[in-house]
Amino acid sequence: MIKLFNTLTGKKEEFIPINAGEVSMYVCGMTVQDRVHLGHMRAYVMSDLIRRVFEYNGYNVKVVQNFTDIDDKIIERAREFNTDYRLLGEKYIREYIESSVIMNIKPPYCYPKATQHIEEIIKLIEKLIEKEYAYIVKGNVYYSTNKFKEYGKLSKKRIEDLISGSRVKINPDKKNPIDFALWKISKEGEPYWYSPWGKGRPGWHIECSAMSIKYLGETFDIHAGGTDLIFPHHENEIAQSEAVTGKTFANYWIHNEMLRIKGEKMSKSLSNFLAVKDILNGISPNSLRLYYLKTHFKSPLEYDDNSLNESSNAMNRVERFVEENYISEYKLNMDLLKGVMNDLNDNFNTPKVLGTLFSILREANSGIGDKHEVAGTIKKVFEIMGFVFQKKERNNKIDDIMNLIIEIRKDLREKKCFQIADKIRYQLERQGIELMDGQDGTKWNIR
Ligand SMILES: [Zn+2]
Repeated sequence: MIKLFNTLTGKKEEFIPINAGEVSMYVCGMTVQDRVHLGHMRAYVMSDLIRRVFEYNGYNVKVVQNFTDIDDKIIERAREFNTDYRLLGEKYIREYIESSVIMNIKPPYCYPKATQHIEEIIKLIEKLIEKEYAYIVKGNVYYSTNKFKEYGKLSKKRIEDLISGSRVKINPDKKNPIDFALWKISKEGEPYWYSPWGKGRPGWHIECSAMSIKYLGETFDIHAGGTDLIFPHHENEIAQSEAVTGKTFANYWIHNEMLRIKGEKMSKSLSNFLAVKDILNGISPNSLRLYYLKTHFKSPLEYDDNSLNESSNAMNRVERFVEENYISEYKLNMDLLKGVMNDLNDNFNTPKVLGTLFSILREANSGIGDKHEVAGTIKKVFEIMGFVFQKKERNNKIDDIMNLIIEIRKDLREKKCFQIADKIRYQLERQGIELMDGQDGTKWNIR
């Protein structure tokens, strides 16, 4: 059983899939106006971990993660760099995908882009207009928040409070200050698409509704993202989608807390920007993953320069221990494995799991417990959480030595020295190494 904290209900709940054995999950992806930074990557490592935990529990997980490749900020940045917005977007999409491959994030089912779904977006807006959830003013289309009775149900905000506290500058075209744009008319020199309301481009929120419905259906299991997206982005996604379909949009909403530097959210404008690719020049992807997972995803993560180094040192300890003591995937401490998997299944409690594993590792180093079992279990759980253990050079040496032994044994057999050849086999077996003679030579295996 997997339990997760659902922002929608404000409670930790047992996960019940729409279709048995399957999970459909939408992850809000990057707005490709800039490089992927340390704060973004927290959300993507987290959604990757969630996916892996579901997969370990036997679920088939379909993840869709979009790219917002048209947006006011993208147009602005493209102007700043004197380039085409498409080239700018492609550049940052490439950097994101490269970084996520290095971070061993499993690729999604697809990476839909907003600009490739204009038709679906227009159809969705047409339906909203038809149902009178949207209105047109001078080529712009706005969503009428008053019409959607449950507006605020995700962020637990009340419309009246939003209006009175609204810092949005008053737009005389809007019926209500918190109404938001579904379609924006293009100004001179800006990219545009043809629509029934004139030349324009989609608003940010509508693209996620259109793309998630297209690839995952009108109701899907999990919608994930950072807490900064709860309002207005996810609230608006719900308002748009549920107004059109009349169905629950997503059953579970999972939000990770922010990464902060000196109390501030990481962003370009605050010049506290740390690009993932630059960070990965200094520390390994495993160490960066450990850095994220040491803190629970529902807690803010405060960045300081030391914490990355600490993770690096801790990761080295794990890698060294596994390298020295791992012998086989079958050497496991089942009680330990079951215990930590229960913690992972309980709202993805990675700090608790890591705490347990590091204390077992410390004990094993001081002679308590079976080192081989501890190494096997640690490697397995780390791999479930998305870490990668490279085959070390030492293993290549073992390969070389084994190949030499096998060749000598072959020579002995050809010279009919069966007694010595059998002695080699017997002695290796006593060391837990099995030789298997077959048509294409002799293979070996550590039991
Ligand atoms: Zn989104």
